[in-house]
Amino acid sequence: MEIRQTQAGSILTRVSGFLQEAGFTHSLTPARNCTYGCLYCYVPTMRIYGGLRPEDWTHWGQFTTLKTNAAGLLARSGHARQIIYCSPLVDPYQPAERERPLMPAILTAFLKRPPAILAIQTRGPLILRDLDLICALAAKTTVRVSFSVTTNRDEVRSRYEPHCEPNSERLHAVKELRQAGIEVYATLAPLLPCDPETLACAALDASHRELIGDPLHVRATKAHGATTREAARKVAARYHEERWFHPQFQAEVVSRIGQVARAAGFAFLTGPKGFGRLARHNH
Ligand code: SF4
Repeated sequence: MEIRQTQAGSILTRVSGFLQEAGFTHSLTPARNCTYGCLYCYVPTMRIYGGLRPEDWTHWGQFTTLKTNAAGLLARSGHARQIIYCSPLVDPYQPAERERPLMPAILTAFLKRPPAILAIQTRGPLILRDLDLICALAAKTTVRVSFSVTTNRDEVRSRYEPHCEPNSERLHAVKELRQAGIEVYATLAPLLPCDPETLACAALDASHRELIGDPLHVRATKAHGATTREAARKVAARYHEERWFHPQFQAEVVSRIGQVARAAGFAFLTGPKGFGRLARHNH
């Protein structure tokens, strides 16, 4: 894992498209390229539109470039009306964050100038390292954590996202955040091959909230923009899991998870409506 550094020109970006539809005003991306390197990650398919350089999308996951001045920039550009999603283009608690922490300084900057809402999107149990800062910020403003849990089957996890922590560690992190009083959502996105009912029950048991989620992006239902990397399709073909890319099968899986959630008194929300839960005002 190679860690590079850069001085960014800006740190908050006005959102458009999916995130705007969900209700966010800005995104914050603390690094370029993500050392989790998930095989399905849609970010490298965005190329320059994801703020990437060719070496990022050709060597996705092999290095990351940290914006080391992120906290300083935020101290100057943050304001109280912003609804911020961190991050659409990298996991803020990617493996490199353990080696060179950026998030403590970013959260400290938010403490000085809290936004209206901060949504942290992650799959990294490392977030628990910053629990005190997150709790302090949650006492000042709305903080939500969307924690990605993509399958209940760890052999699947190790095929499609080999550098991510096992599901048990991720569910444990969701529970710890909830028990600390943080508004944390189990986000089943993208839905990898799984046992839908088992996954839904485990996610609900950890979060005690409505579930957010989305199937793998496919061109049949999303004609333009970011999509699933070819590397994931190759793995699916090798393990006879291609149906997880078929819209009709995906809809059946979403429906099955929805049934489990409703039986427990919760909803299962997908697309902008799902991620909109992270951006909504409480009043
Ligand atoms: S953690 Fe998210 S941003 Fe990072 S490689 Fe995986 S899917 Fe992409």
